[in-house]
Amino acid sequence: MHPMMKPALRRGWRDLETVQFGMTPAHALTLGPMDSATGSFLDLLNGARGLPLLRQEGRRLNLPEGRVDALVERLSRAGLVDDARGGGPAADALRQKESVLRRLRPDLASLTLTTPEPGGGLARLAARRALRVRVRGAGRVGAVLASVLSGAGVGEVEVQDSGRVEPWDVAPGGLPAESVGDRRDTAARAVVRRAAPERAPRRPHSPGSGAEDPGLSLVILTPRDEVAVHAPDPREAEPLLASGTPHLYAGVVEGTGVVGPLVLPGESGCAGCLHQDRTDRDPAWPRLVAQWRTGRSRRTGACDLTLAVTVAGLAAAHALTFLDGGSPSAAGVRWEASLPGLTWHSRPIRPHPACGCAAARKAKGEHSSTDGHRRATMAVQRPTTERRREAGAARPTGTWRAHV
Ligand SMILES: [Zn+2]
Repeated sequence: MHPMMKPALRRGWRDLETVQFGMTPAHALTLGPMDSATGSFLDLLNGARGLPLLRQEGRRLNLPEGRVDALVERLSRAGLVDDARGGGPAADALRQKESVLRRLRPDLASLTLTTPEPGGGLARLAARRALRVRVRGAGRVGAVLASVLSGAGVGEVEVQDSGRVEPWDVAPGGLPAESVGDRRDTAARAVVRRAAPERAPRRPHSPGSGAEDPGLSLVILTPRDEVAVHAPDPREAEPLLASGTPHLYAGVVEGTGVVGPLVLPGESGCAGCLHQDRTDRDPAWPRLVAQWRTGRSRRTGACDLTLAVTVAGLAAAHALTFLDGGSPSAAGVRWEASLPGLTWHSRPIRPHPACGCAAARKAKGEHSSTDGHRRATMAVQRPTTERRREAGAARPTGTWRAHV
């Protein structure tokens, strides 16, 4: 271990004995009371020294025996310390790719804030390279979202769609004007490749073969059709639910941006639950949906460009949080914002007893071992504030306290 105070957190002295790491309430911590020798020692935690050398430096600074190890251990437990050589073999491989790391430096810094364990940030960033994500729908939202995920280091982002690029599909960060008239899926894949921080290795699988591939970490549904955004068809999600594939909805409908729900099959509410819930609250809902679906026309929907890229960015952030092992707030929730106010609010999508997904499965205890593994993976991370409080509670009273 080569301990390094996480450089992402800005340091400031609150008084002569108390140092604060970080500026924002979400991630800041204070440390104190601290004598000046210990304060000087913190400057040595820059990733250049291993523990044996740090112990020597501690003796030179007249720190009591054992203080160095105790300090590093406590700082690590509080999530303030990174390991300049940690993260495992995948992280080591990524360290060799300097140009890729330079591109992703801000993303790595961000990951160090959400992974408490030393070396965890780079481990998560390296893990992204092995992920496979499929984006279904390459309009203004889908193409931007796919390129953002690719740019953030997700190794394989597949895009599925049909038809050819229309002039109104063009968006900064998404399909370029030069692609108008090209096949939509081909053009979107080119956008994804251009956004990637490194060239992805060719894989033997064939996207678009019909069945949902069990190797997919996440499928994101970004339909160009407004009705599919507003009232996602439960039948389209059936193969995803059957294969236990997590999936996320995002899109724009009539000036309203929609992100979610993130569906964790058997765990959180799905498109079927949403349909049943809407029907409970509005008996006319099925009749309206049937009319909207049959009345589809080739008209261009109301999809403000800024709202489209906002939805793409927010959905990508929720997707990444999930892919990194976290619990994004879009699980079982639909975030919505409408023009012109743009205030985001959330609608819960609860598992509905009449839907065949979560409630029925849970009641019968039919989770496969794969599902169990997936749940365990998702449970690795708790919301930051909760983890922070826990880290604070584990510290000796009077020496450490969480910043509020
Ligand atoms: Zn359901």
